[in-house]
Amino acid sequence: MRFAPEKYAIPDLPMQPFIDTGEIWEYLNRSIPTPGKVKRVVEKSLAKKRLNLEEVATLINASDPGSVELIKEGARQLKKEIYGNRIVLFAPLYVGNKCSNNCTYCGFKASNRKMLRKTLSNEELAREIEALEDSGQKRLILVFGEHAQYSPEFIAQTARIAYTVKKGRGEIRRVNINAAPLDINGFRTVKEAGIGTYQVFQETYHRDAYKTYHLRGRKVDFDYRLTSLDRAQEAGLDDVGIGALFGLYDWRFEVMGLVRHANHLEACYNVGPHTVSIPRIKDASMLDLGSDYFVPDEDFTRLVAILRLAIPYTGIILTAREPVTLRNRLIQFGVSQIDGGTRIELGSYTTGEQEHDLKRGQFRINDDRSLNQIIDELLQQEILPSFCTACYRLGRTGEHFMEFSVPGFINRFCTPNAILTLAEYLIDYAPEDTARRGWKVIEENMYELDEKTERQVQERIERIKEGERDLYF
Ligand code: SAM
Ligand code: SF4
Repeated sequence: MRFAPEKYAIPDLPMQPFIDTGEIWEYLNRSIPTPGKVKRVVEKSLAKKRLNLEEVATLINASDPGSVELIKEGARQLKKEIYGNRIVLFAPLYVGNKCSNNCTYCGFKASNRKMLRKTLSNEELAREIEALEDSGQKRLILVFGEHAQYSPEFIAQTARIAYTVKKGRGEIRRVNINAAPLDINGFRTVKEAGIGTYQVFQETYHRDAYKTYHLRGRKVDFDYRLTSLDRAQEAGLDDVGIGALFGLYDWRFEVMGLVRHANHLEACYNVGPHTVSIPRIKDASMLDLGSDYFVPDEDFTRLVAILRLAIPYTGIILTAREPVTLRNRLIQFGVSQIDGGTRIELGSYTTGEQEHDLKRGQFRINDDRSLNQIIDELLQQEILPSFCTACYRLGRTGEHFMEFSVPGFINRFCTPNAILTLAEYLIDYAPEDTARRGWKVIEENMYELDEKTERQVQERIERIKEGERDLYF
């Protein structure tokens, strides 16, 4: 379906809905996969050609062990080719848990009287950021409930504070946002604060299912949410993140919805989503969910591999909702960004508390390793942790994602920047044995670079050792 401004029908950026429930089900019901067909689709993806919805449905319906293996192997190969050996690290920072909506799955819902409501003051926010910087974090996502207090100006102000607070050698270089959908002016306001990605998860792409989970407040409007990232684009904010909350409806439908959404943004604005998030429902205070759609680990692994093949240039984010072993496994099949050292109770980076408290957090997390533990374990698997923020700061966003258009992009930019940000971490924050492992992984990755880049990276590492910071390509 083409972008059709003349057909606007809902306020602000009304447009024809681009999710057609009947159409998605038709694709799913019609597709009968054979091993030969699956092989052709995987090969098409490996040839870096975009998959259409029919082909995605083929992968989704292929459930025989041979085909599933083919899909997983294809995803593993594609991940390596496009993302190399890196994994990008970030931390979530909850700013406020007041909420006027009533999403049945969420601890922050307005009807939950047990939730201890809190919004960080500027002072408390600054202390949280200092604590995050002290652990070596460089990339944050600020998270908010949906509430009149959390206006675009408020969100913009918190982002500005995050960029301003600096402790020791620490600084935050990229601030992403996960908050309610805004109108066009609202998106302009947050863009002016220099944010990175603005994430809005559709939760479920199934219109009727959506109604049963969203009982009150602005969020009841499926279309207003669905078109939010179009409004972001209209406001000039071209760095957006989509997501579905797995467990609300059939995962096969949600994968089709995510791909349709990504293709819509790509077709209308010439830029696909920067990231796709794949949260699975976790326990929460007053969780009120009668759902038949919880996704088992094996299907979850399949869906990550399918997304990797279907939208190769979109980063996949997997958070600490998931346990360690599953996170490690899913990195192989397509996940490209993870959070580390995560605490989601408001104010808990400052207090350093270890206990989880559902009365103050949105849901239960299942990976509470520290940032250093995660980095250390990644290094043991010879994965290169990265805090790179170069692309967005150099304006390398929008249009087609860079890997598309610049040959050798990973070797020229991504790997060098991952190495440089890791070198900073090893010098400023890592204990001795992590540092030893880290330098070894850096050395191994240097061999992969061409001679000229290797020389340039080596020269910058020396400058970092002498005290310079924030060097990037
Ligand atoms: N309040 C904003 C909104 O709804 O758009 C920001 C989002 S909320 C703070 C972040 C995301 O957490 C939601 O979009 C939803 O997908 C996810 N979430 C909510 N409840 C959850 C649960 N019980 N388990 C896992 N994820 C959950
Ligand atoms: Fe509020 Fe967002 Fe939770 Fe819904 S998911 S209750 S909007 S914080």
